[in-house]
Amino acid sequence: TAKIYYDNDADLSVLKGKTIAILGYGSQGHAQAQNLRDSGCTVIIGQRPGSPNYDLAKSHGFEPMSAEEATKKADIINMLLPDEAQADVYKSCVQPNLKTGNVLMCSHGFNIHFNQVVPPEGVDTLLVAPKGPGHLVRSEYEKGGGVPGLIALGDTASDETRQIGLAYAKGIGATRGGVIETTFAEETETDLFGEQVVLCGGLSELIKAGFETLVEAGYQEEMAYFECMHEVKLIVDLFYEGGLNYMRYSVSNTAEFGDYSTGPRIITPETKAEMKKVLNEIQDGTFARNWILENKAGAARFKAIRRRERTHQVEEVGKRLRRLMSWIDAKEV
Ligand code: NDP
Ligand code: MG
Ligand code: MG
Repeated sequence: TAKIYYDNDADLSVLKGKTIAILGYGSQGHAQAQNLRDSGCTVIIGQRPGSPNYDLAKSHGFEPMSAEEATKKADIINMLLPDEAQADVYKSCVQPNLKTGNVLMCSHGFNIHFNQVVPPEGVDTLLVAPKGPGHLVRSEYEKGGGVPGLIALGDTASDETRQIGLAYAKGIGATRGGVIETTFAEETETDLFGEQVVLCGGLSELIKAGFETLVEAGYQEEMAYFECMHEVKLIVDLFYEGGLNYMRYSVSNTAEFGDYSTGPRIITPETKAEMKKVLNEIQDGTFARNWILENKAGAARFKAIRRRERTHQVEEVGKRLRRLMSWIDAKEV
């Protein structure tokens, strides 16, 4: 069983007299910075000017500065930048300004695990990752709760760095929900696997394939949308509250029988074999190399696929239907 830390395992006074630099004021940056400040920590922001995030940091009462400046002034530096930008910002702004005894942090291990960011001797690495989007990290904290998180220590990290990590996790509210001890490898590999196979990749393709099958068979696109996209949330909410058992208790016996008889025809042994291949490619660095090279090529393929996916029929019909559902806080991006 995993080691899980709660509020009582962490001591915020470890961060007294230490300055924390949050590089990037995006989803995670704005949330972690404000939570830490509200927990009594000294926080400075490294955020480039000319972006809405710069103005946001100012409007929250911070005085954002360059990443170089923030690194120079800080004891603890957390790179809350997009994973694909971290290596460049690290090499040009962070590394030249690191001092012995600094702690270099992140909320996802991709760059450190795959050696895109290699800190000098005397600088420990530390991961504290909330298991939820930044805006929830902030809103849960404000309500007195917290999004659960993960903690991982780099190979050379000292016990003091562990205490810093636990205090940081407490400062952002994560120990209220529970913080699981993991490693850079485990966090990075399971995060990539989950988003590719189940959460983002698997689920999106499942929904699109189901929707297309109904529409191609001549059913109305609105019916296909409700059945294959909208209702996913209702089912997932049941999983979230009570697992598969609760979903199966709640749906009709007919739906439950169809679940058992048809589910294994959709997710087949071949699907699982492919999952194992995907996991291997994550573990052996193949996926990391592809993503790094993609970015070096200006993300040409990534942007082309993104453009095509944006106009899928399920998106067009969904946009129209969500506008009519007044209880949904419909988002258009
Ligand atoms: P965002 O995209 O929301 O924010 C990125 C921030 O970095 C912005 O302030 C942006 O500033 C700045 N930035 C982007 N590119 C550059 C660049 N080239 N040079 C300097 N600054 C740059 O990122 P996230 O908060 O989503 O992700 C941050 C980290 O947190 C990642 O490691 C991610 O994996 C991890 N994480 C994210 C979660 C999430 O829910 N989003 C959950 C758990 C972990 P500007 O406005 O100027 O572009
Ligand atoms: Mg991820
Ligand atoms: Mg039904």
